[in-house]
Amino acid sequence: MKLIILDRDGVINHDSDAYIKSLDEWIPIAGSIEAIARLSKAGWTVAVATNQSGIARGYYPLAVLEAMHTRLRELVAEQGGEVGLIVQCPHGPDDGCDCRKPKPGMLRQIAEHYGVPLSGIWFVGDSSSDLETARTVDCQPVLVKTGKGERTLAKGLPAGTLVFDDLAAVAAQLLT
Ligand SMILES: [Mg+2]
Ligand SMILES: [Zn+2]
Repeated sequence: MKLIILDRDGVINHDSDAYIKSLDEWIPIAGSIEAIARLSKAGWTVAVATNQSGIARGYYPLAVLEAMHTRLRELVAEQGGEVGLIVQCPHGPDDGCDCRKPKPGMLRQIAEHYGVPLSGIWFVGDSSSDLETARTVDCQPVLVKTGKGERTLAKGLPAGTLVFDDLAAVAAQLLT
């Protein structure tokens, strides 16, 4: 199967250092919904792995997070596509879980769900922790310049990282 895994904040929707705490604050980046739909319609399974420590911090409840993901699924469906498995880490940095990126737990969950090896799968993110997560499980690290991407780029990237302007450019590359 053709599987691609995406980070959420800064890749699919605009990020904020103050967290995305409500459905109103969840605003798609231009072209991202269309990119997911195009990939899906071309036979790609598009999964999502997102750190959501705002849950542990009490900034927003799980129901609000689920509403954002319902919105995402609806918007992609309107374009004729489908979003695959969405996995979230609701824990804080001190909780010692094995899912909070850069730990690879969420990517492993996705691979187990679909019964495929992670090796070589593209993991698209905007933060160093995303790229590190990808490297830990032998995924292909892919950086987009949206969200924190420009800042991440300035810090220097792991060898072999692919860089694109945004998710639309990632999709364009995969669909050529
Ligand atoms: Mg991000
Ligand atoms: Zn976790």
